[in-house]
Amino acid sequence: MAATPPRRRVDVHVHLSRYWPDLATNSYDPTVDFSVRGLLRELDAERIGFAVLLQLFSSPSVEETLREGEELFRQSGGRLLQTVTVSPTGGADAVAAAIARWEAARDLVAVKLYPGYLPFYPHDRRLDPVYEFAHRRGLVVMIHQGDTLDPAGLLKYARPIEVDEVAVRFRDVKFLLCHLGNPWVEELAELVYKNANVYTDTSGLLARPTVPYFPAMVERARRRLANALAAIGDVRRVVYGSDWPLESIATAVALVDGLDLPAEERERILSGNARELFRLDAPA
Ligand SMILES: [Zn+2]
Repeated sequence: MAATPPRRRVDVHVHLSRYWPDLATNSYDPTVDFSVRGLLRELDAERIGFAVLLQLFSSPSVEETLREGEELFRQSGGRLLQTVTVSPTGGADAVAAAIARWEAARDLVAVKLYPGYLPFYPHDRRLDPVYEFAHRRGLVVMIHQGDTLDPAGLLKYARPIEVDEVAVRFRDVKFLLCHLGNPWVEELAELVYKNANVYTDTSGLLARPTVPYFPAMVERARRRLANALAAIGDVRRVVYGSDWPLESIATAVALVDGLDLPAEERERILSGNARELFRLDAPA
């Protein structure tokens, strides 16, 4: 019997929450198994050991977000890593209350911010305590970028250039900008090139496979990814993510695997970069 290959890969961008019920209808396949079991099955098939589970801003409370994240972490045997989220639009007191509650959470790996979906800029001064918390705890700050699934979102808040100021002010914080900044890929690449503490993920670049021109869409996404890499000039700053269940894990991995790069560089995007960024190999 062949030995099971080790699951060294990491998906830095997946969603699973009872507070996003219409996610199933937005997913890559309406029959997707939107459960811990369904997600782990897809991850296993692509040799992915860990996935960063991004909390939704639509959760009813900070408390409930943490409770659900802890539950999914436990149910997955520690493979679905826990994150938190906050919006500065609730005011400085709400931000302080969220951070006070996060202090007690042990297993966090990232804070996710949703500018664009919510009306704030990443350089909103009310977020400074969040960046300070991330620094203190060594958490990655993940920031939604570009296109919003919700047509009511406001794209002006979600441009890569709006991250530059905080990337400079918080040099010791690692920022992971989502979706290659789509559609502002050139702008995103400049941010990553200029700021050594800024990274990007490959998630959410594809719609469901039934849309017209899907093969052309995959080809375009691969070209944009290759162009971004050429502009950034450092393969270590690009990490694989899917945005499951909007994309299937297999499709998202295939996008990276189809890049015209040496095998070890493709594998770096799929595994090593995220393991370093999220310090997954660090002793507990
Ligand atoms: Zn997402």
